[in-house]
Amino acid sequence: MKITRVTVEVLETPLNSQYMAGGSSVNSNWHILARIYTQDGIEGIGFDVALRPMLVRAAAQACQELGDLLVGMEIMEIEAARARLERAAGWAGPGGMLCMAMAPLDIAMWDAAGKTVNQPLYRMLGGYRDRVRAYASEALWYSLTHDELAKSAQTHASAGFDMLKLRLGHEANPQGEVDRVRAVQEAVGPEVQVMVDATESWTESQALASGRALQDAGIVWLEDPVNHQDIAALARLSQALEVPIAAGEHLFGVEPFVRTLEARAVNIAIIDLARVGGITPWMKVAALAQAKGVPLAGHVIPEVHVHLLAAVPNGHLVEYMPRSEPITKTRLKLEDGHLVAPKTPGLGVELDEAACERYRVT
Ligand SMILES: [Mg+2]
Repeated sequence: MKITRVTVEVLETPLNSQYMAGGSSVNSNWHILARIYTQDGIEGIGFDVALRPMLVRAAAQACQELGDLLVGMEIMEIEAARARLERAAGWAGPGGMLCMAMAPLDIAMWDAAGKTVNQPLYRMLGGYRDRVRAYASEALWYSLTHDELAKSAQTHASAGFDMLKLRLGHEANPQGEVDRVRAVQEAVGPEVQVMVDATESWTESQALASGRALQDAGIVWLEDPVNHQDIAALARLSQALEVPIAAGEHLFGVEPFVRTLEARAVNIAIIDLARVGGITPWMKVAALAQAKGVPLAGHVIPEVHVHLLAAVPNGHLVEYMPRSEPITKTRLKLEDGHLVAPKTPGLGVELDEAACERYRVT
């Protein structure tokens, strides 16, 4: 079936959940929403979620211009469609913003392809399992007090999550970081595992000292201890610490993952669906990581990541940050600490059209 039309919208969506009180420096999220229509009346949807407005309109403009190039192409020939887009965007890339511009189109093509053959996305992409272990990370920011952290953690635990991730990296010394972990751990008890994201805040030596203190405190992963471009430092930390090092959410496209994996710089690769450029490149990174025996985690957008992580053998953990709930009618199901991949065709995401209308800015 041929693509007949592509539309792109920018939506400014409110922070949605009960978890959002305090601690967040933003009041809204930004969605770039692409819709791809085919001859037989199928509509595929794909979206990026940006936490800041910077470059969103420019990326959406690029998304529309690239999307117009898809008209007339076959919905099931996604590699051919991507090749056309990448050629149009310049062979040297695409990188940076162009990855974010291509991601909603790529996701929308896969959604439409799934609807065309009447299969859910996780099966289209491999169908290794139908659910993925989940962790909650909303409203566990480094700016919160211990009491606020404890309250957020309890909210997540009572919703059924048995893994939580808090952000660190802004305390004066390792003990201060450990104290924040303890505040959360005490609030939820030993049944709940705690992970830490240092948001690239430390030097290598700070990361080593804090990493040792935190692994002794029982954390189950340490994310982004240092700048993601310092692959050598990440590799040394992965060697020196017993706690698994997770990183990758700031990498654009496939190629930086080649270098990161080759250097054995991460024990767990985190993929950001928008920065990698959509589902097609995501799957290529997944295969590279599998060849190195590296498990995967998804960065935000749980509605799509649940499918991708369920599809592949090395899919490990999905991050639950439900930033798209204000514009969707469907809700992900949590069972025994796992998010369940929808069985409906494509993404299995139904938009709330009235909400999209309300939040549309272009
Ligand atoms: Mg992170």
